Amino acid sequence: MDEYEDALRERRYAILSRMDRALQRSGRPRKAAQLMAVSKTVDPVKVEAAIRVGYRVFGENRPQELVRKMNALAPRQELPQVRFDMIGNLQKNKINAVLGRAAYIQSISSESIARAVSVRVEREIAARHMIEPQPVLLEVNVSGETSKAGFAPEELRASMDRLRSLCGIRIAGMMTMAPRAQPTLARATFRGLRELRDELVKAYDGLDLSVLSCGMSEDFEIALEEGATLIRLGRVVFDPSFELE
Ligand SMILES: *Cc1c(COP(=O)(O)O)cnc(C)c1O
Repeated sequence: MDEYEDALRERRYAILSRMDRALQRSGRPRKAAQLMAVSKTVDPVKVEAAIRVGYRVFGENRPQELVRKMNALAPRQELPQVRFDMIGNLQKNKINAVLGRAAYIQSISSESIARAVSVRVEREIAARHMIEPQPVLLEVNVSGETSKAGFAPEELRASMDRLRSLCGIRIAGMMTMAPRAQPTLARATFRGLRELRDELVKAYDGLDLSVLSCGMSEDFEIALEEGATLIRLGRVVFDPSFELE
């Protein structure tokens, strides 16, 4: 495990320095973006190692895994506080598992799931199991690939008024996924997300979309150049065989 931890630490330094350079290139401050470790493929033991080397924000794509990892870490009082976000497709019958546990639900991909989350949160608040609306990101299918979840940009424009009226959620930003292994398309996707954000913030008084969650192991530098405030890295963080540069 120590060897694995050393490798994680080394990889983290390399990632942070690549982040710094990408932010600098685009004239953005160092603190402009947060690094999330996507822990969906590793056990709690490896998550613990990641915490020891400095990661504080984790992402899971299945509700059961998110709960399992948070429960495994809960007794480890000596570890620093960390946050887990839900980043994968969320089915309605799994909402209760992540409510109040996931710091953010990043995968609000339709009006119907937004409404379902909001209704459940309002119930939890009424029962005093939660005290605040659930922070969420709106998942947008910027690239238009049929395989991808998320609001089509046009659909999001049409839904915005209704989404904003939901009392159980607090919209904090947007997330997207780019086509794999296609840097030009990835850049267009990330830029499209930022432009949509700028447009919506201008159109809706007081709308907060400050979080832009985009960029993965293969394209995070492009995402940072295009305005990402949170990058979600899995393989480059945890897989010692994934090329670092
Ligand atoms: C797996 C996953 C990631 C991380 O992907 P890598 O290519 O391993 O960095 C990021 N976001 C989501 C939604 C994922 O499911």
